[in-house]
This record gives sequence, C-alpha cells and structure tokens, in this order.
Amino acid sequence: FGALPKPDAFAPPRLSFEFFPPRTEALEQQLWASIRRLEALRPSFVSVTYGAGGSTQARTHDTVARIVRETALVPAAHLTCVGASRGEVDDVARRYWDCGVRHIVALRGDPAEKGGRFEPHPDGYRSAAELVAGLKRVAGFEISVAAYPEVHPEAASPSADLDNLRRKLDAGATRAITQLFFDADTYLRFLDRCLAAGITAPVVPGIMPISNFAPAKRFALSCGATVPGWLDGVFEGTEQDPDTRRMVGAVVAAELVRLLQANGVDEFHFYTLNKPDLSYAIAHILGVRPEASAPG
Ligand code: FAD
Repeated sequence: FGALPKPDAFAPPRLSFEFFPPRTEALEQQLWASIRRLEALRPSFVSVTYGAGGSTQARTHDTVARIVRETALVPAAHLTCVGASRGEVDDVARRYWDCGVRHIVALRGDPAEKGGRFEPHPDGYRSAAELVAGLKRVAGFEISVAAYPEVHPEAASPSADLDNLRRKLDAGATRAITQLFFDADTYLRFLDRCLAAGITAPVVPGIMPISNFAPAKRFALSCGATVPGWLDGVFEGTEQDPDTRRMVGAVVAAELVRLLQANGVDEFHFYTLNKPDLSYAIAHILGVRPEASAPG
C-alpha cells in the first residue's frame, strides 16, 4: 500500500456503530454509557442486533424505542426471518415504523442452536432478499443488508453469493454492511468484485476493534471470518494484561481503517460490542470528534 497519508489528508469519514441489546441491568447501564459516549460523535446511524433465532425480539425493540425517545441518534433495528411467519415479521416491522424507526438491517439470521442449519418457517421469509421485499411492502424503510468479503459459509460459490447480494439490493436495500474481517486486502478485493459485478450501492466495511483477543477470535471464526496468523502474534503475551491488549487492539483497528481510508473508503461501521473506547479512539484519529472539539 505504500506509506500512509497523514490523517488530516482526508475529510472525516461517516461512521455508524452497532450495539447489542443487554441481558442484565448491569449490561444495560454499560450499553447506555456506550451509546451516550458515541452519540457525541454524531454517527450516521446506530444499529441494534437481533439475537440468534430471534431470541431478543423484545429487548431489541425496547432498546431501539428508547434510542428514538431519548437520543438524537438515528436507530437501525436488525430484524431476521428465523422462526417467525411473514405476518409476525411484518407486525414487528410495523411496530418499529409506528414508534418512529425508519431504518432496518434486514437479515436472514441463523438458528439459535450453534451450528444448526437455517430452516425457514413454513409461512416465513426464506431469505434476506425476500425479507427486504416484504419490508418494502410494509413501509418505506431505509434498508441495509449483510455482505460477506470472505463469502457466506452456505453460499454455493463466491459469484452465487454476489448474485444474492445483488438480489437484496434489487429488492430495495440501499446499503450493504460487511461481515467483520481483519486484512484490508480481504475487503478491497471484495469491493473490486462488487464493482466488477455492477454493484454500486455502498458496501460499508464492518470493523470490530478487539479489546479481548481470545473471545473475539472465537466469535470471528464462528462468523466464518479468517483470523490471520499475524493477529495471533500481535496479541500473544497480552492474555493477563488487559491494558496493553486494549492498546494493541486500538492500534490494529486504527491501522486497518487508515489503510482502507487511504484506498478511498469514507464510511465505516463499528461492531462496538457495547464497549465504546476503542471505537471512540479510532474515530478520534480519523478526525471524527464531538462538535466542540473538531480538529482544526
Ligand atoms: P441471506 O442473504 O439470505 O443469505 C444466506 C445464504 O443463502 C447465503 O449463503 C446466500 O448466498 C444464500 N442464498 C440466499 N438466497 C439464495 C438463493 N435464492 N439462491 C441461492 N443461494 C441463496 N444474525 C442475527 O441473528 N442477528 C443479527 O442482528 C445479525 N446482524 C448481522 C449484521 C451484519 C452486518 C452481518 C454481516 C451479519 C449479521 N447477522 C446477524 C448474521 C446473519 O444473520 C447470518 O450471517 C446469516 O447466516 C445470513 O444472513 P443474510 O442476511 O446474509 O442471509
């Protein structure tokens, strides 16, 4: 990639942040502290995940509804087709619309049992593309969908997976957010393939800053993402040293986003895991600051 340009060579990028709905009162407080801290950076939107198998329907809804009520943020609710009929999914979407939510991240989802295979509900949407089309019939949502730089594990081939991404966009989605990845090349090659396939909608890189390597690695592998050997090496020896680990995680993620930025990427989606500090620090390097302290 050659030498990286200085951070101030670029306009600050647009950012969005992903959170998950909390299970306990303590986690709820952690989530809201994270939302408040990152709200100051005025992200384009913040998204709230939907548990595997649709297991967090009520908690996702409550979190999103509270974001609408209590913040100036634009929320995006994740919604999946797992274990629900079309009518039930449509009802959830209608409730979102009625409480002021205008952006849905539409996903097929995975079954709640680890490693289980997705079986559509007999009266359900069978894929994210069908869900997107269904949501468009419910109301005029802005819709984001998932994209896979390393190919979705169930896809017949890389080109079949790209065809599927195109189907989701043709059905009415206007943005794709990628699965997490750790090598800039992985994303940039995927973007080239999207462009070569005529996909011109934004394909926003999903970045997961790592504050705790062992669980992050397990999670990444379970998503089908490659964890490169150099990453193991970089975190090696930090197991008992959380401060160093977090600093290493910030540097690794900052290097990744700076490389992407140098290659023309001006929008990033951060998987925060409800921990704001690394995302906040990386945003700071990229020139995204609270209004009162904008660079220059
Ligand atoms: P789809 O786009 O439907 O694709 C699923 C698979 O089927 C792919 O292999 C695709 O190529 C194939 N396929 C689809 N249609 C066809 C067809 N007509 N012909 C041939 N092949 C086809 N999961 C959750 O449970 N909750 C979340 O909140 C959540 N958020 C996510 C956010 C992002 C940004 C990402 C990247 C993933 C997220 N996931 C979430 C995970 C996601 O649900 C899984 O990866 C799931 O296995 C696939 O979902 P999808 O929307 O990509 O499905």
